[in-house]
Amino acid sequence: MAEWSPSSWMQKPIKQDVVYENAQGLKDSLEKLQKLPPLVTPQEIIRLKKNLRNVALGKAFVLQGGDCAELFDYCNQEMIEAKVKLLLQMSLVLIWGANKPVIRIARIAGQFAKPRSSPTETVNGVEMPSFRGDNINGFAADPISRQPDPSRLVSAYFHSAATLNYLRASLSSGLADLHSPLDWGLGHVKTPSIKEQYTKTVTAVKDALRFMHTVGIDKDRGFETADIFTSHEGLSLEYEQTLTRLLRHPVEPGSGATAGLGYYATSSHFLWIGDRTRQLGGAHVEFFRGIANPIGIKIGPTMAPEELVQLLDVVNPDREVGKVTLISRYGAAKIAQFLPAHIAAVQASGHIPVWQCDPMHGNGQSTPSGVKTRHFTDILSELKQALEIHRAAGSFLGGMHLELTGEAVTECVGGAGGLTEEGLGERYTTFCDPRLNEKQALELAFLVAGFYRE
Ligand code: PEP
Ligand code: MN
Repeated sequence: MAEWSPSSWMQKPIKQDVVYENAQGLKDSLEKLQKLPPLVTPQEIIRLKKNLRNVALGKAFVLQGGDCAELFDYCNQEMIEAKVKLLLQMSLVLIWGANKPVIRIARIAGQFAKPRSSPTETVNGVEMPSFRGDNINGFAADPISRQPDPSRLVSAYFHSAATLNYLRASLSSGLADLHSPLDWGLGHVKTPSIKEQYTKTVTAVKDALRFMHTVGIDKDRGFETADIFTSHEGLSLEYEQTLTRLLRHPVEPGSGATAGLGYYATSSHFLWIGDRTRQLGGAHVEFFRGIANPIGIKIGPTMAPEELVQLLDVVNPDREVGKVTLISRYGAAKIAQFLPAHIAAVQASGHIPVWQCDPMHGNGQSTPSGVKTRHFTDILSELKQALEIHRAAGSFLGGMHLELTGEAVTECVGGAGGLTEEGLGERYTTFCDPRLNEKQALELAFLVAGFYRE
């Protein structure tokens, strides 16, 4: 394999490329980014990698979730806290359900860049570049704001830093303190049998927490706080390259080993390659094969099983267990057709990845009036099928990957609150794909916990 460097991706064909007209502006922004400190450290990145190794081996579960497109405006106290609390509550339910530790990864502090199916779109009769994410261009529907602006890359760094700073500060100050009462808000659940089922789960979780507190096994084991790792799609390679640094690998204290050096993408703990940019000879795969971080790859119906194995060979030649998370997103109607062959090919290859189900991206649909939505029943169905298919194949479904928000939005149809297509207009605030609201997301955790308990 040819030599790798943080810029070797530039020699490969690239999809979803951004063309900056302001070449000097781009140069200035990248030079600035290159000088700024890493956002995360090798110690944290390797801690996540070890956790994901446990997931790959069936000893833990991973919950990944957050917005489809994060905006710079989401960098505020309320929204960060709401997301953290939701992920925490969901993880407690899943710990109880799967009876395993749950690793939490948020799509936060950098989930700005978006791949688009078309480079342009027509808004109010005017054709203009599509919105590519807050780190690339502005959402406002005018051709000027839609021009890629390189200074947004620097802005992305500072918004990531501010978000991460508040995330770290609030976690270390007890936001995730499991002794403080959590609001489980089940008031919206109308069907008595469902309400009873969820209430039972909440009671079981609360009892377990109280028990640990009473016998004192929570204090010294870090139960007063929780780890939340960060992630985003590694789409903007100009940006990722500047934050990829040659750093010393962490060594186990007392091991006597001397640490070598490795390239760490320090923009977040975990990066993934999207379904549209995972071509074998392409720029994104080239960039990803050189970084020491745990990485994700989105896979869908267009991925051939042989290609999947070739891809794993390229990005993980040393076959590190759990280094790669395969994030499958086929859609409820297609998963049964595609997942079994993907599992079989990977099993035959000897690679041991984390298998994660993204039940969102294969289940998009439009209402008759053209609103993009997803149905709760499809999301649940894909998750349930994923679990069953993995079980039948002797494989472990290690986690789920969701688009969600801590706010009471109305973007996905269904759930115990009974949101209908007619109700979507009420609080439809996403700038990209429709997300589960806080109640729907928690409900999904209850139901998935129930599958594991079956
Ligand atoms: C996403 O996760 O928001 C996304 C664009 O996913 P995919 O690459 O699977 O389409
Ligand atoms: Mn999305």
